[in-house]
Amino acid sequence: MENVNHTYQVLIIGGGPAGIATALTLHARGIRCCVVEALKTPIRKAGEAIPPNAKPLLKQLGILSLLEHEQHTVYYGNKSCWGTEMLEEKEFLADRLGHGFLLNRLFFEQQLQEVYQQTQQAFYKGYKLKKVVSDEAKVRAIVESNSETITLTGDFIIDATGKKASVCRHFQVEKEPLDAQFAITFNCKTTEKLPRQIIVEATENGWWYVAPYAENEVTMMLFTLKTLLPQKHHTEAFLQKEFHKTIHLSQILQKININNFKIVPAGTSCLPIPYGTQWLAVGDAAYSYDPISSYGITSALASGFYAGHAVADYVSGKQDAFLGYRYVVENAFSAYMEKLVNHYTIEKRWQQNHYWLHRLEFIKQDV
Ligand SMILES: Cc1cc2nc3c(=O)[nH]c(=O)nc-3n(C[C@H](O)[C@H](O)[C@H](O)COP(=O)(O)OP(=O)(O)OC[C@H]3O[C@@H](n4cnc5c(N)ncnc54)[C@H](O)[C@@H]3O)c2cc1C
Repeated sequence: MENVNHTYQVLIIGGGPAGIATALTLHARGIRCCVVEALKTPIRKAGEAIPPNAKPLLKQLGILSLLEHEQHTVYYGNKSCWGTEMLEEKEFLADRLGHGFLLNRLFFEQQLQEVYQQTQQAFYKGYKLKKVVSDEAKVRAIVESNSETITLTGDFIIDATGKKASVCRHFQVEKEPLDAQFAITFNCKTTEKLPRQIIVEATENGWWYVAPYAENEVTMMLFTLKTLLPQKHHTEAFLQKEFHKTIHLSQILQKININNFKIVPAGTSCLPIPYGTQWLAVGDAAYSYDPISSYGITSALASGFYAGHAVADYVSGKQDAFLGYRYVVENAFSAYMEKLVNHYTIEKRWQQNHYWLHRLEFIKQDV
């Protein structure tokens, strides 16, 4: 296999929202970087809700107009049955920032990658990170596609690989999982067109999330604990049983057809410190958020933005450039934890059930 050398100031591993936001910011600061993305073409990832308060950041990154494409829809609020049997409504219209967005997530990832490609910076699509080696002066990433292995050399490397935090692992830094929540996700046809709202409903073994996806189709997710997940061949029956325990969703949707489902980790985790001497982590690689917060994509984009500026300062010789980055991301995580604690504390109906008991234990450890 051929082994070629390519040199950049900054290597970014991962071409999701965090990696692309970092790359766009570095490019705007005149830093020569490259992005390495394992997938040749994006796949549909879980997560699509962008709350109204993300708009100023999207504008700052120059990507707000991407969300105005007809592939994405606006949404006007949430309905939630949480801590009470009532379905309570929160409309965004009173919010000064107006509506939020429900992304066509696959299309959004394609849009972000296209915006990056317009910068003419290098994009290694279909290349997976295999190894990171570093000496005091340089860091090298060995990346591999189906047909070749390339060594990329940089002054600095960014971990934007998502939850796996693969670059950090090469520097012997591991993320700390704070809980073991998982999601079972699937799409489902509906007989009627539903309003453009997200519906959340808590049940004894976790909580449901439903968001409009297409004209007569919704995205559904059940969040529960790893220990409560059934064996794979019993998943469909488990979902049906849990669905019929809901007070409101079972009335709104009446029945659900489950074709393809995915089971994915969906808990909170964090790095002890989001950077080292030659690396820095952004997005889910640094902090993974419980999807109840709808904060993952916004946080990925925001951390990419702040990281881009910090790394640009650092490679230009500013030694304390990362302190500001650390301050911003740690504060955001603390604010999230506080809200999470408040939110899970509200639900007291099933305090002795495994899921809610675990939720409270996780919260107690943290406060
Ligand atoms: C069930 C569920 C529901 C969610 N709902 C929401 C929601 O409603 N709203 C919200 O804001 N957030 C939500 N999220 C969270 C959100 O999807 C993530 O926070 C977001 O995708 C993080 O972006 P990222 O760029 O950090 O990581 P990712 O989007 O995971 O991107 C990482 C990229 O790195 C690439 N990569 C990985 N390893 C390598 C490697 N070794 N070499 C090269 N490339 C590699 C991957 O292919 C991927 O494209 C949800 C998450 C889950 C699990």
